[in-house]
Amino acid sequence: MAAFEPERADVVIAGCGIAGGMLACRLSEAGLKTIVLEKRPRIGIPIRCAEAAGSREELASFLPIDEHWIAADIDGVRVESPGGTVLERKIPGLAVVLKRDVFDQTLADRAASFGADIRTHAEVIGLRTEGEFVAGVSVLDHRSKATYAIRSSITVGAEGIESTTGRLAGLRRHLKHKDIHTCFQYLMQRASFSTSVIELFPGTRVAPGGYAWVFPKGGGYANVGLGIHPGMAGGATAKEYLDRFVAERYPGARIAAAIAGGTSGIKPLKTMAGNGILLVGEAAGQNNPFSGGGIMNALEGASEASAVLERCFETGDFSHAALKRYDEQWKKRNGRAIAKYAALRAFFMTLDDADMDVILSVLDTLHPDRLAPHAEYPELFKRAFQSTPALLWKARKLLW
Ligand SMILES: Cc1cc2nc3c(=O)[nH]c(=O)nc-3n(C[C@H](O)[C@H](O)[C@H](O)COP(=O)(O)OP(=O)(O)OC[C@H]3O[C@@H](n4cnc5c(N)ncnc54)[C@H](O)[C@@H]3O)c2cc1C
Repeated sequence: MAAFEPERADVVIAGCGIAGGMLACRLSEAGLKTIVLEKRPRIGIPIRCAEAAGSREELASFLPIDEHWIAADIDGVRVESPGGTVLERKIPGLAVVLKRDVFDQTLADRAASFGADIRTHAEVIGLRTEGEFVAGVSVLDHRSKATYAIRSSITVGAEGIESTTGRLAGLRRHLKHKDIHTCFQYLMQRASFSTSVIELFPGTRVAPGGYAWVFPKGGGYANVGLGIHPGMAGGATAKEYLDRFVAERYPGARIAAAIAGGTSGIKPLKTMAGNGILLVGEAAGQNNPFSGGGIMNALEGASEASAVLERCFETGDFSHAALKRYDEQWKKRNGRAIAKYAALRAFFMTLDDADMDVILSVLDTLHPDRLAPHAEYPELFKRAFQSTPALLWKARKLLW
């Protein structure tokens, strides 16, 4: 290799979270030379997530289940409205709460076992271009403070909410204030936390524009957090709301760790790909804009991206025209649902506490089958509005 010739890979992936790790597993297993660059010193740490994922079956469709990354099995949900109406359902096999640090590291280890080169302390700071194509990245190594370049046929932006590559490639813009929910979460210890029921607390006093959650982690621990819309919070921070929530609900509980983070509720991107580049996971806006959840979406996005990329390597065509199949497939499978969740997010933010009490009371009258794991929230809400004419006007964008 000539002295200053950049390193060469088939694929370079920016970010080793869920999407980056999963995609690296698939591509390296398919025999592609894959380099993954993660800016943090340790993969998965700090955990910026409440860690609720899909069911064991859903996860097993992406990688073999390993008890080491499962913190708790969830078989029920409890939602408490601001006025105290409680909706509680037993739903066996609903979900698992992960140990995200272990899960993310497992994905990286699995990718490495197939030959992927996983680098930590490695921040992607720029894109290299050749003509009209993205042709790799510039990297800052935080240990040595040196920068270096990697040349690749495909560059993938999997940096989550912060996606630098997405912005540099013109695929997405800086997030606007209105697009973001700010979150704060404590890992708390308290003997009486449920071991298998996730709890949700909507309401303008608890979490304006969002909700609070309590997700069991086993062994008397739970993730207790909330997300607020800053524009509706009267100048108070998510931490201030959370401190009040835990003081009122769980006085004396021990706080073992604290994290801050954000979730985005952006509109679907016009396209998640360009010449020589694509985005995946939260970088591509693939998370659920209503719940903020994105673990399963990132796994699914990575799987779909890998199928399209493997085909590109067969044909040698890395143009936007070839990568557009990824957009099309994602939109076909998820476009409608994500658009509905975006509308639901907008509607949810118009609700006052009295509306939430009514909705929860109506949902409580629905047959348990209607609240099955795969029931879609928009459909459920639709039923609630139809029986509650006062809410119909606010819900019109969701219904039509
Ligand atoms: C407080 C909170 C609670 C949440 N709870 C849930 C939940 O319970 N269930 C759920 O499904 N989802 C939840 N989410 C959302 C979920 O965490 C994300 O949707 C998911 O992590 C997205 O995965 P990803 O791989 O796209 O991005 P990430 O997991 O964010 O991974 C991106 C990685 O890229 C790295 N990176 C960023 N920039 C660069 C760069 N320039 N160069 C190199 N590396 C870079 C980051 O360090 C990170 O490791 C929550 C989010 C927050 C903030």
